[in-house]
Amino acid sequence: MGLFDSSAANKISAAQLQQLNAWVYDTLSLDESVPVSISQLTCTEPGCSPLETVIAVMTQPPQTYKIHQPAVEITQDTIVQTLKEKKASE
Ligand SMILES: [Zn+2]
Repeated sequence: MGLFDSSAANKISAAQLQQLNAWVYDTLSLDESVPVSISQLTCTEPGCSPLETVIAVMTQPPQTYKIHQPAVEITQDTIVQTLKEKKASE
């Protein structure tokens, strides 16, 4: 019954989530009043990691960023790159 071992390893802790959140606020210079939600979803695209992370920033209009990595593997560099790239292409 080792089936769920790998997904348990990808569980993100509250502290990690808080860290990711802090990086998002930092990168976008967000006001504290703007809610940010970070969630992990199953990715079904071939060649992708089984978990992807979705960052939703509740500005008007809301911005959604998708990172094809489990949240535990995301570094500050990844956050900065993803958030800035998206902005530049708007
Ligand atoms: Zn993916």
